[in-house]
Amino acid sequence: MYIEKLSVINCRNIGNIELLPDKGFNILYGLNAQGKTNLLESVYLIANLKSFRGSKNEEIVKHDENYCSINACVNSKGVKRNLKLEIDKKIKKVKIDNKKPDSASEFFGYLRPILFSPEEVSLLKGYPSGRRSLLDRAVFQASPVFINRVMEYNRYLKQRNILLKEGKKLKGNDPWTEGLVSAGTRVRLERIKYLERILPLFKEAFQRITDGGERADIIYPLPLAAENVLKEQFHQELSRVEDREISFGQTLAGPHRDDPVFQINGKSVRHYGSQGQQRTFILAFKTAQIMDLENILGEPPVLLLDDMTGELDTFRQNHFFNFLKSRKGQVFITTTDIQPLLKAGIRDGRFFRVHQGSIQRIVSNEELL
Ligand code: ATP
Ligand code: MG
Repeated sequence: MYIEKLSVINCRNIGNIELLPDKGFNILYGLNAQGKTNLLESVYLIANLKSFRGSKNEEIVKHDENYCSINACVNSKGVKRNLKLEIDKKIKKVKIDNKKPDSASEFFGYLRPILFSPEEVSLLKGYPSGRRSLLDRAVFQASPVFINRVMEYNRYLKQRNILLKEGKKLKGNDPWTEGLVSAGTRVRLERIKYLERILPLFKEAFQRITDGGERADIIYPLPLAAENVLKEQFHQELSRVEDREISFGQTLAGPHRDDPVFQINGKSVRHYGSQGQQRTFILAFKTAQIMDLENILGEPPVLLLDDMTGELDTFRQNHFFNFLKSRKGQVFITTTDIQPLLKAGIRDGRFFRVHQGSIQRIVSNEELL
């Protein structure tokens, strides 16, 4: 799967650009605040209809403009699709080959990029919602229908919270609690099963990146069990918080409050991880996601790597670059300094200089230096 052509108009500081990316490496380089991350954000947006920066429509549209548009021609196993996204200050409109898709989830299948960004690294140390979102994004990339499960759960959660706010005492066998427990158990099961599948890949990747020096793990608060067992556990959790739910006016247990524990050498990354360890953790997590998604798709997914070298020592950087070189597939890498990439032997591919929201392909080696 790869992008053959990308056009971006009025997205952030990008005016109007057209890019013909390589099927392999695409290096986007330039000084700070020139639009490198904005360009990756555009690719992420056309794939996921959401910014990885959690931004609102009006923040994405270029200042003093009314709308922005992103077009990507995606080639998957020889089949080409034109994806189009238009964002104005209120709504997002999408088209596949100039036709409106029946549902948003239809749109999600065509381009499933894996992103590495410093914003994601910072989620490790923050609130549980950040760690849940790291996991949920990975589950979603592997299985886009997961979004329907989350939306179903959120509908029950919202309804149940309204009732709790109104002071209604819920007995546990009412339709809202039953619905919440069924939908929530499905969300938990998908998360737990996903982790079971990728953990061996993740642990191995982490050991290799650290030259066998460190061990990492991800522990979901509940172990894998049959659906009816998990449902029963959820009911028990809710009955333990029953009285407090009335006084707080909200649902106090469930997948919206689970906090996956991310560990290095048995200690939580949240409390003890150094900056380099946090980055390494995310790199290994992404490596596992890439390998898993490649298995599912039967072709390599597109990678979006934003400013990934900072705070990684040379050994860890080179290890990851070697992994990238050993695989096929399209990669977009942003950087302020191309020397580490050139030194690591990433020379084949296309180099683009990003400057004040525009982009220029660099064809001669002298221009790179
Ligand atoms: P760095 O190397 O520091 O990460 P970058 O090249 O990745 O830099 P971007 O994050 O892409 O930089 O941002 C470039 C510029 O886009 C910033 O100066 C920011 O103020 C500007 N910008 C953000 N949103 C908008 C917008 N809606 N309209 C115009 N400019 C914007
Ligand atoms: Mg940036």
